[in-house]
Amino acid sequence: MSAKHILACVDFSAHSTRSLAEVGEYARANGSKVTLIHVSDPQAFIPPQAVLETASTNDETTHRAALAKLRDQNLGDIEVDIAVLVDHAPAKAICDYAEEHGVDLIVVGSHGRGGVERWLIGSVAERVVRHASSNVYVVRQRLQTASLP
Ligand code: AMP
Repeated sequence: MSAKHILACVDFSAHSTRSLAEVGEYARANGSKVTLIHVSDPQAFIPPQAVLETASTNDETTHRAALAKLRDQNLGDIEVDIAVLVDHAPAKAICDYAEEHGVDLIVVGSHGRGGVERWLIGSVAERVVRHASSNVYVVRQRLQTASLP
C-alpha cells in the first residue's frame, strides 16, 4: 500500500516536527504529495511553544510562516502544500480536511503539547485515529534509553 496524498499534522511540538523526517522518507520512497496542516485556535489557552519562541504574534499568518519554514527545512525536495485552519476542534478539522482533499494517509505524532492544555482538550491523535476515514500513521515518541532506570 502506498499513499498518494499524505496529511502531516503539526502542532509545533518538538515531537510533531521530528515526525516530518519520517514523512519525508515515506514521501520520497512513494512519490507522495504532502500537505502540512496546523489547526490554529485563536483563543487557545496556550499558544504553540515553538511559534511563541520565534514570533511575537500567534495568528494564522504566523502559523503559515512557521509551517513554510518546516517545509523548507525538512521537505524541500517534495511537493508540499500548506494548510492553516482556524478551528476550536483540531481533530474534527483534520478529519474533515482529509476527506475533502482526497488524503489517503494522515500522520500524527503520539505526543503533542502536554500539561494543562492536553488536560483541557484531550488527545488530538487519539480522536483522529478514531474518527478519520483514511488510514492514520502514528509516529511514536522514542524513549531515551539513558533515562530508563
Ligand atoms: P496530542 O494528541 O494532542 O498530544 O497531539 C498529538 C499529535 O496530534 C501532534 O504530534 C500533532 O501531530 C497532532 N496535533 C495536535 N494538535 C494539533 C493541531 N492543533 N494542529 C495539527 N495537528 C495537531
